[in-house]
Amino acid sequence: MTFTIKILGAGSATPLKGRHHSAQLVSVNEHKYLIDCGEGTQYRLIEEKLNINKIEVIFISHLHGDHYYGLVGLISTMSLLGRKNQIQVFGPAGLNDIITLNFKISNTVLAFDLFIHELSGTDKQKIYEDNYAVFYSFPLNHGIQSFGYLAEEKPGLLKLVKNKISDLEVEEMVMLKNGKDVLDDQGNIKFAVKSYTLPPEPVRQYAYCSDTIYEESILPYIQEVDLLYHEATYLEEHKEKAIRNNHTTAIEAALIAKKANVKKLMIGHLSSRYEDYEAHLTEAKSVFFNTIPAIEGKSITL
Ligand SMILES: [Zn+2]
Ligand SMILES: [Zn+2]
Repeated sequence: MTFTIKILGAGSATPLKGRHHSAQLVSVNEHKYLIDCGEGTQYRLIEEKLNINKIEVIFISHLHGDHYYGLVGLISTMSLLGRKNQIQVFGPAGLNDIITLNFKISNTVLAFDLFIHELSGTDKQKIYEDNYAVFYSFPLNHGIQSFGYLAEEKPGLLKLVKNKISDLEVEEMVMLKNGKDVLDDQGNIKFAVKSYTLPPEPVRQYAYCSDTIYEESILPYIQEVDLLYHEATYLEEHKEKAIRNNHTTAIEAALIAKKANVKKLMIGHLSSRYEDYEAHLTEAKSVFFNTIPAIEGKSITL
């Protein structure tokens, strides 16, 4: 099963040429989930040759414009393109009012059902599940209601013990991989799951934390994830600004990664005062070496 993250936008509030507002496309087994939808996200999807109507679910972290101003436009375009499948959108309280008012005043009737789920809660909670992935939300600390998201693939099938495969017919392999013993004509166990299989690969997890001040209460929610995206709006020299604006420095993002024992950290949401990632990476890597930048257009495979 494939599990990839495509960076569509990784800038902060003030856009720059080549730096777009937040949006990431998560693909699990080719099923598409959008996290955040900053202004221009639909153009970024077109530029990256991604089919807008393949998106099945949208998760919005918070209602600062750089994370959702693209949502009304994206949903309108989905309708203009003749989408019939429903779409589900998750986000903070107020999201439903914002979206429905836009469509009400413009007299827009969508061609599909739009379900908006407003989140609450002060803990990690399961909010969405399908055959391929499970999504959880958890609170961030950003001055307004703000959520991080954890995407987890569904467990794969059991693995067959290699040197026993030659004993089995294809049908029997399928049964065993699905956890069912193979029985003979008399109903006795012919091939037992426990002796012919090994556990499936560990499930992969991706955590998205933007925007937030340095917040250790999120550590239990993101422990040992394969990839953590954490905002790193500022450098250490501007830490006071980070605190004042409820954002994080690169070193703080790296500290969160280290304390959560994640496998890899990806930083983004840099303030427009910084030209590139160089100094952020240097600072973050001094605390947590396995840090990468969120480069727009890049895909990261878990
Ligand atoms: Zn932001
Ligand atoms: Zn924000």
